Amino acid sequence: MTPTSHPDQQDATPAEALRDKSAALAEALRRIAAEWRPAVFASSLGAEDMVITDVIVREHLPIEIFSLDTGRLPAETYDLMHEIQQRYGLKLKLYYPRNDVIEAYTRENGINAFYDSIELRKACCHIRKVEPLQRALANRKAWITGMRAQQAATRDRLPLQQYDEANKLEKFNPLSDWTEQEVWAYIRSNDVPYNKLHDRFYPSIGCAPCTRAISLGEDVRAGRWWWEDPTNKECGLHVKNPNVVSIIR
Ligand code: SF4
Repeated sequence: MTPTSHPDQQDATPAEALRDKSAALAEALRRIAAEWRPAVFASSLGAEDMVITDVIVREHLPIEIFSLDTGRLPAETYDLMHEIQQRYGLKLKLYYPRNDVIEAYTRENGINAFYDSIELRKACCHIRKVEPLQRALANRKAWITGMRAQQAATRDRLPLQQYDEANKLEKFNPLSDWTEQEVWAYIRSNDVPYNKLHDRFYPSIGCAPCTRAISLGEDVRAGRWWWEDPTNKECGLHVKNPNVVSIIR
């Protein structure tokens, strides 16, 4: 697992290598847009997602960008949404949990029930993330994520392309082979907006009550659901699937 450091402490990535990687990313996104229409990009508004957003906007690609507003996001994430709209003139599409379902869950279990058990945590993630994602992906041919293989023990063999059996469409992870250093090199050299929590040792950002800052040397996702077993820390958005292929790049 890659040791994590503050964005300002990242080593320099050679400009030529970054150019090549950026060009390959743009080419992969162009191909997805052309061959898998309609394709959508599910932005979690993390650093990786901002790289992909920047390329989609720069290339004027016909890929809709959406995010899931769980209702429990940190203020800094909403600030970033606003900044994206200002900077790119982008109308970010937001999906919300079903209000009747979340009202029933909180009434039955409490407002912070996700700390009480893994089952209740997963149920909260299902209501606030998985079900809205299913709505966002309905009638699409492909979806794109900003996941990288080095991000966590749960993502160590992340392919560039895979069939998403759960949602019945193709799924692309075009940053699968990017390093954290390359992500930050792209953001710095292209002046891409990013979540200011990254400057406070939050490399992976989700809902406020389920995300904490990490220490130097900790896994980049150590701050997500930190009270749980690290080999089982996903929200259900990204189900592992053995039926995978790697064809882009
Ligand atoms: S990350 Fe936490 S608050 Fe957000 S949906 Fe999952 S359990 Fe609920």
